[in-house]
Amino acid sequence: MKLKSLELTGFKSFADHTQIDFLPGITSVVGPNGSGKSNIIEALRWVLGEQSVKSLRGEKMPDVIFAGSETRAPLNRAEVNLNLDNSDRFLDFASDEVTITRRIYRDGNSEFLLNNQKVRLRDIIELFMDTGLGKESFSIISQGKVESIFNSKPQERRVFIEEVAGVLKYKQEKNQAQKELRETTDHLDRVADIITELY
Ligand code: ATP
Repeated sequence: MKLKSLELTGFKSFADHTQIDFLPGITSVVGPNGSGKSNIIEALRWVLGEQSVKSLRGEKMPDVIFAGSETRAPLNRAEVNLNLDNSDRFLDFASDEVTITRRIYRDGNSEFLLNNQKVRLRDIIELFMDTGLGKESFSIISQGKVESIFNSKPQERRVFIEEVAGVLKYKQEKNQAQKELRETTDHLDRVADIITELY
């Protein structure tokens, strides 16, 4: 799987549609302070499902929408598209090209699309879980992350290792199955009570 391009429209300082192509080799983003380099990385994390407004340097999610400048009015919508080459089927999705889209409106409404089909946040998270490209992965090392890993508690460090080892997905599925099992046991208990009352 390869990152092909990232498109930003109305996201933070990128009012106009801006496309960044990731060509073979290393891509560097250079520019003066405040020119929007970190905003590009935030757009990447955001389209992969980032839910922490604080880590996006905002107070509420619509803060990622272009807030206006001296010469331009604020916009009402932000959209980020991430285009991936999946011809090696690294992602468990039957398409050579995968496009993830995330949109948000001023009123806070937002949506995710996978190849132009509406999906849930959960679908995006599951698609990338254990691939190394999830929002919590090491593919994106932001400022302060190395320090936070060194300073993390053993339990927190274990989660990082589980993500790398690819067991996080199975752990989540196990938790979900255990929850359903508990609910089913409760229902069965209730049925047993009713049967006892009837006879
Ligand atoms: P540095 O080199 O100092 O880390 P940088 O190139 O990483 O800077 P960013 O932090 O990505 O720059 O961009 C900051 C700029 O983005 C600021 O000028 C800020 O005003 C602008 N910005 C952030 N959010 C918005 C928004 N919602 N609307 C418009 N501009 C925004």
